[in-house]
Amino acid sequence: MSEQIKERLARVGLAVAQAARRAGRRAEEITLITVSKTFDADIVQRAVEAGVRDLGENRVQEAVSKAPLICGEGVRWHLIGHLQSNKARAAVSTFDVIHTVDSPELAARLDRLAGELGRRPRVLIQVDLGGEATKSGAVESELPAIVEALDAARNLEFRGLMTLPPFFDSVEETRPYFRRLREILENLNRSRAPERKLVELSMGMSHDFEAAIEEGATMVRVGTAIFGPRR
Ligand SMILES: *Cc1c(COP(=O)(O)O)cnc(C)c1O
Repeated sequence: MSEQIKERLARVGLAVAQAARRAGRRAEEITLITVSKTFDADIVQRAVEAGVRDLGENRVQEAVSKAPLICGEGVRWHLIGHLQSNKARAAVSTFDVIHTVDSPELAARLDRLAGELGRRPRVLIQVDLGGEATKSGAVESELPAIVEALDAARNLEFRGLMTLPPFFDSVEETRPYFRRLREILENLNRSRAPERKLVELSMGMSHDFEAAIEEGATMVRVGTAIFGPRR
């Protein structure tokens, strides 16, 4: 298992570097988030021993119980799943990066809790580009109010945008969603001071991270390609 994880990590790392090169970018601009949801702490620990530093989880409770079991210097936890307001305190305690802010109320609550807990998480807004009512994330028309709330926050570091496009077999059908997220980021940045520019685009998973990197992703979230299929 350890060998297999190492091998897959090396393969994904190489694919990240090659996609970056194709796009005229440096591999160091891209953070590979290893999505460890559903995998037990002992397996996650092996990934950390193989060099993984960024771990993604989609459920607060799962991360709360797993994080204390993982040892490794400089490990960062990323929340990539929907955040319910009653889990916000646990999320702020556990996660270094929260990718799924989707309302001004959640932004304000996270800010207040971060102040109380003496934390300063990085946050992204999850943008729902598919317009699917069942998906979490904010639709484009909701962005200005969330941006305003995050700009007013004192204890959060607003860093950029995340999206989870609808699933297509063909990566080329997903690519326009990646492109759109980047456009939205660029549009937001037009009216932002240089020191407040948004820099992160969290997009791309196992089957489409290369296209996401070609379209500007700075964080890719990869589970299956590193750990194998989830049970
Ligand atoms: C599970 C998950 C991933 C990783 O998916 P894989 O296809 O296993 O790489 C990425 N992003 C989010 C939001 C997820 O929930």
